[in-house]
Amino acid sequence: MDTDCIFCKIVAGKMPSSKIYEDSHTIAVLDIFPACPGHTLVIPRDHHADLFDTPAATLAHVARASKKVAHRLQEALGIDSVNIINNSGANAGQVVFHLHFHVVPRSGGDGLDFKLNRVKADAKYLEEMSSRLKF
Ligand code: AMP
Ligand code: ZN
Repeated sequence: MDTDCIFCKIVAGKMPSSKIYEDSHTIAVLDIFPACPGHTLVIPRDHHADLFDTPAATLAHVARASKKVAHRLQEALGIDSVNIINNSGANAGQVVFHLHFHVVPRSGGDGLDFKLNRVKADAKYLEEMSSRLKF
């Protein structure tokens, strides 16, 4: 546990939260600044700052719990779509440095837009970038 971490405090029950799910590896709580009703955070019990620091097994637990939460949102809120978002690193918008997945229920006309601004790749870019990144 990181004593300065708000999510560690929530996991330890030392800070209030609206918990909707828990298992031996994760908890899921309502986000206190929801993008829309039902916006939930899935948080591993162990403290890891971000995706880079988190063991694959822990990520698997978080992914499994996120799927359970998505099904619960579908069933309880009647939504048919969901965004799973992880911000890792300050430049990606991470504010709380204890890894978490946002599970954001989506429905038609909800006014949310997580689309990235993208441009069509040309052949030169695809060739050069794939050779830089391939492993
Ligand atoms: P991120 O930008 O991915 O680090 O997002 C952190 C999220 O945690 C934000 O959406 C906050 O609204 C949410 N948050 C911060 N403090 C709390 C808290 N005490 N309980 C629930 N959610 C929180
Ligand atoms: Zn923590």
